[in-house]
Amino acid sequence: MPVPVRSLWNTPVKAARAVGQGLMGLAFPPACLHCGGAVPGASTLLCFCCLRNADRADADDVRERIYRLPGMRTAIDGAFALWMFDKGGFLQHIHQALKYGNRPHYGIWLGRILGHAFVQSLVYRPAPDLLVPIPLHRMRLCERGYNQSEYLVRGIASALQKPVAPEVIVRSKATRSQTALSRKERLDNLDGAFTVPIPERVAGLRILLVDDILTTGATVGMAASALLKAGADAVDIAALGVTRM
Ligand SMILES: [Zn+2]
Repeated sequence: MPVPVRSLWNTPVKAARAVGQGLMGLAFPPACLHCGGAVPGASTLLCFCCLRNADRADADDVRERIYRLPGMRTAIDGAFALWMFDKGGFLQHIHQALKYGNRPHYGIWLGRILGHAFVQSLVYRPAPDLLVPIPLHRMRLCERGYNQSEYLVRGIASALQKPVAPEVIVRSKATRSQTALSRKERLDNLDGAFTVPIPERVAGLRILLVDDILTTGATVGMAASALLKAGADAVDIAALGVTRM
């Protein structure tokens, strides 16, 4: 039986690619994105020292910040963020690349770390049934090409072994940037921004809503309200980082 030309060509191409990658690895060994130190493989973003020294967020502070928003004490059950987000800090550097630098795969690695830390926080709390990223408006998705929170969720799913359902909530209103807005203005800006097209998909479920960086919590709060309105049983929040207030 004749061997297809394509597979004859593929073997040397694959071999050449493997050799090329090996040589690249020798010339440019994988390095920590923050300090440049050695990491065990090209898919590892931070070295052990940087991970150990990263400033962890305080779960009570994160929850209290979100509860300061009107109506959120009843809308959100638990809130968790992994690290503090500082200007010029390691997380800003990595987050910039994840969100704006076309490095969506960073989200998977970061999501795994976030997922394992989140699991440890669940000692006295029920695990979620469904993992849902904060959606982007379709115009923003079109510009960026991917939703960074969706990649974080994929990483979390590998740690939690729970299903992912990005499609259950939609950002139906394009909102202006929240950066310069007060807490009240952020809530007004987001009013009606999220819809749940098929409420049966979330009815009776405990949802883990995942965002990249929390500031006031207005975005996750409004998305959580939409999920609860659609019949979700409870909503927990998990984020990679939280800004200092
Ligand atoms: Zn490092």
